[in-house]
Formats: sequence, C-alpha cells, structure tokens
Amino acid sequence: MAWFRRKDKNIAELGKKNIPSGLWTKCPTCTEIQYKPELDKNYSVCRHCGHHFRVSPAIYRELLLDQGSFQELFGNVKSADPLKFKSGKKYTDQLETAMSKTNQNDAINCYSGKINGKRIILGIMNFEFIAGSMGSVVGELVSRSIDLAREEKSPFVLVCASGGARMQESALSLMQLAKTSSKLARFQEEGGLFIPILTDPTTGGVTASFGMLGDVILAEPGALIGFAGPRVIKQTIGEDLPEGFQRAEFLQDKGFLDHIVPRENMKEMLSNLIGLLVS
Ligand SMILES: [Zn+2]
Repeated sequence: MAWFRRKDKNIAELGKKNIPSGLWTKCPTCTEIQYKPELDKNYSVCRHCGHHFRVSPAIYRELLLDQGSFQELFGNVKSADPLKFKSGKKYTDQLETAMSKTNQNDAINCYSGKINGKRIILGIMNFEFIAGSMGSVVGELVSRSIDLAREEKSPFVLVCASGGARMQESALSLMQLAKTSSKLARFQEEGGLFIPILTDPTTGGVTASFGMLGDVILAEPGALIGFAGPRVIKQTIGEDLPEGFQRAEFLQDKGFLDHIVPRENMKEMLSNLIGLLVS
C-alpha cells in the first residue's frame, strides 16, 4: 500500500513539472477555465461571456497605437517622498517594490503615437503600481500630456485604472485633482479633444477629476467605476444598493458615460471619434 502511495506521489510531482504554473486562469464571471495564451490572443477577453480581464499597459498600447508609431514621453519623472510617509512600510520602499514589479517609474506611462495614421497623445495608467493611485507623478504626467496635446493640437486619450488618490502623498496628491482639471478646462476651451477610457477599476480621485471630464467618455464592459466603495455608500445612506451599481452599464444608463466599447473595438471607435470631432 505504501508503495502505491509513493508511486502516486511521484506521478503527481512529474505531472506538476510538465504543466508550467500560470498557464490556466478561471473567468470570475462565467467560471470557465481559460488557457492563458488563447486568452492573450483575444486581448484578455473571455470568449465565453465577454468578461474583460485587467491587462498590462503594454497590451493596451499595442491595441491602440499603430505599430512602430509610438515614442514614450516624460519617462524620467519619479516620485519624491517629501512627507517621509510611513504606515507599516516606508513609502520609499513601497515605491521601490512597485517599480521593480512593474518596470515603471509610476502608475502611468505616456506616449506620442498614431491611431490609424492620426497623431494622438496617449496616457495609460497601471493598476499594478500601488493600485494605480494618483500621486504627484501621475498628476504631473497627465498635465504635461495635456500641455503637449495643446501645443501640437492633438487629441489626448487616457486609459484610466485607479484606486484613487495616493494617500502616502496626502494633500500633494489631492492637489493633482485641481491641477489636471484646470489644465483640461483650458485645453477644451481652446477646442482640444479629450477622451478618457474608464477600465476596471476607475475610482476615487481619478473619477472625481479627469476620468469624468472627457468630451466623450468611454468605458470597457463591466468596469467598476465610482468614487467611494459600495460598502461606504451603503453605510452612509443606510439603504441597499441597486443591482449592477457602479458598473459601466449602470453608469451609462444614468447618463455618466457615452459609450461602452468592447476592447477589440476600442481602436476603431477612437479612430472614428477623432475623425468626426477633429477638423
Ligand atoms: Zn467568462
């Protein structure tokens, strides 16, 4: 009996070695098991139910910009830690961990590139970098992108993904709401086109500023979009929340969004909008 157990164990170990980890993933909506390379080919959208998995900024960049057309902008800006913030872990350590995990300086990358031959400035936020939180670097890069779009008379497209303001930067983080909003107001007054794409999740300070200030506001299907979380709202108003609350479809129904666009159609939608709205 003991012999069989040992043999079974060996077979199990052999099996484990032959199946690399991370090759399969379960869809959280329909629970179908997905083969990762197939899922990647479909821009990380479930073929069974259309669930949009979160994707890395590089996938979004490839999806939207014409091949070989892009150039990264403002790549040298990094967060300082003027408040010497510490909460369990030092903020500087958190930054270092996030940098090595994502290979980025902060929660946003900006590019100059083309969509079907039309020049745009594109920002892509990364939720993997301290929950895509907006600190002074995100605010500064969004501001610089708006300035450049204004100078070049190019549209500005921003793929949003954020847990909100970066608490480790306190008031400096909150100031980014006013800074980016005022820059956008001037850009739009002069006829500039700004299109935010709200992906899962877009919450807090980003929803309270540039996320909701687009000339046209796009979102991905099923994306969580809101300011405070549902638990806080439920406690505050003392009522149960309706089904689908804070999901893209609910927000579109209430008039907060213009279009919900499946990922595979996003480039075509942007290209059409830019063609229609930019003279
Ligand atoms: Zn699914």
